Amino acid sequence: MWLVIGFFIVHWILSLFTQTFFHHRYSSHKQFTMTRGWEKFFYVLSWLFQGSSYLSPRAYGIMHRMHHAYADTDKDPHSPKYDENPMAMMQRTRIIYKDIFDDESHIDKRFLGDLPSWRKFDVFASNNLVRLCWIIVYVLIYTMIAPAWYWYLLIPLHVIMGPLHGVVINWGAHKYGYTNFKVGDTSKNLFPIDIIMMGEGLHNNHHKHAMRYNFAWKKWEFDPTYPVIWMLDKLRIIKLKPLVASDIAP
Ligand SMILES: [Zn+2]
Ligand SMILES: [Zn+2]
Repeated sequence: MWLVIGFFIVHWILSLFTQTFFHHRYSSHKQFTMTRGWEKFFYVLSWLFQGSSYLSPRAYGIMHRMHHAYADTDKDPHSPKYDENPMAMMQRTRIIYKDIFDDESHIDKRFLGDLPSWRKFDVFASNNLVRLCWIIVYVLIYTMIAPAWYWYLLIPLHVIMGPLHGVVINWGAHKYGYTNFKVGDTSKNLFPIDIIMMGEGLHNNHHKHAMRYNFAWKKWEFDPTYPVIWMLDKLRIIKLKPLVASDIAP
């Protein structure tokens, strides 16, 4: 039993780490820079950790820039204000994501600047056969570690891990929680010490200070991805961009 729970938690954390570190904070917001070599390394790492639900860092980056620009309007790619339930929102987001992935020609140019790009790898990692191989890997792992059949019910969550993380934030953190800042949208902080969502749950702070790589703002808030980012900067794997004074917590 503990092997299954451990595998689930490890997959949850690693998949979410690549999404928040590489797709969100790097691709979409460019809070830091890295060399092309490291960029390719994190592309491959994202594929290994996100597996069957691999998201293109580039398409994600574009879609998320649209979310910040149009938050809670009818142009927002995902908003609880315009979707009846989380499933409907996931479905609409999936269609918009695929549309961006297939063709960028119709997208406002302001969303297209300074994005990572590795088209060949994105096409390979997003291929349905490759995704299917990952699903087989998850099933094989469960055949080795699951002590009873009902643990297999967790497999669908592994299969949709990336979009699942998306919906927790895009639905949950626009509906439930507390706010530190008045912003022109419904963004909220889900948890002050956000171990579960690796800092992504501090969403109201992030909507207010989008270039701040530490999503925590108050002394009693904690963003577990920030110490990793801090360390990668010290190791010179990434280079943090200087913050403007208003993005530095008092
Ligand atoms: Zn948001
Ligand atoms: Zn963002």
